[in-house]
Amino acid sequence: MEFTRRTGLQLGVAALAGIAAVRFMPYEAHAQAMTGDSYDADGGKITINPVSHASFVMTVPGMVIYNDPVGAASAYEGQPAPDVILITHEHPDHFNVETLQALAGEGTRVVTNPSVYEKLPEALKAKATQVANGEQTKIGEMSIDAVPAYNTTEERLKYHPKGRDNGYVLGVAGKRIYIAGDTEDIPEMRALKDIFIAFVPMNLPFTMDVDQAASAVAEFKPTYVYPYHYKGSDPAAFAENVSKEGADTKVVMGPWYS
Ligand code: ZN
Ligand code: ZN
Repeated sequence: MEFTRRTGLQLGVAALAGIAAVRFMPYEAHAQAMTGDSYDADGGKITINPVSHASFVMTVPGMVIYNDPVGAASAYEGQPAPDVILITHEHPDHFNVETLQALAGEGTRVVTNPSVYEKLPEALKAKATQVANGEQTKIGEMSIDAVPAYNTTEERLKYHPKGRDNGYVLGVAGKRIYIAGDTEDIPEMRALKDIFIAFVPMNLPFTMDVDQAASAVAEFKPTYVYPYHYKGSDPAAFAENVSKEGADTKVVMGPWYS
C-alpha cells in the first residue's frame, strides 16, 4: 500500500489539514504519484496525479480531467479515461496531436485556445471547444474560464505573446482551481480570488523565476499551490520564498520529473 510509506507525522499533518494525503517531498517514485493527492470537496474528493512537467490528471466528483497531455499515452495507463482534456497552448510540452488522438474517447471534450483549435485535425475539432482569454464554457457542472497567460519581460515576449495562450480557472465541487499555463506573474494572476488549488510554472527563459512565482502566489494566496513546469528551477526555493512572504499557502511537491 502506498500510504504505509508516509510517516506518522506526515499523516498527522495531512489529517490536521483536513485532507487525505499530501505529498511533502519532491522526486518520490512515480508509482506513488498514481495514488494521487486527495482533497475534500463538495460531493466527494478532488485528486491530483502529476504525470510530467505540465501534464497531470485531476479527478473531481463525477469527472476526470487531463491537463496538457503530451508524450506516450502509456503514461496514462491506470488512470481513468478523460471526460475533459484541457490544452493551454500550442508548445510541444503542452500540445501533441498524436497523444490527443490516443487519449480522447467518444465522450471526451477537448477545451483549448483558438490557436490550438485551428491546428486540430477535423476529428478532434469535432470534440473540441475553443475559448479565448476572458471567455467561459461549461461542461456538466464545471465552469471553465479561460484566463490570460503571457510573458511580460522584454526578452521573453516571443514565447507567450499576450492574448494567444490560456490559463484556466475551473469552478467545480464548490472549489476554484487555477491552472496557470505558461505565464509570468501577470496582474491577472495576482488579482485571483478564492483559489483552492493552483498550478504555477517557474522556469527560464519561458515563464518566470521562483521569486516572481512566489511573489505572485503570496499575493493571491491559494490554499494549495503545486509548483509545476519547473525544469531547471528549484521548487524548494519557491516554497521557502512563499513562506518568507508570510503566505499561509501550502506548497505541495509532486514527482513531475521522476
Ligand atoms: Zn509555452
Ligand atoms: Zn511550457
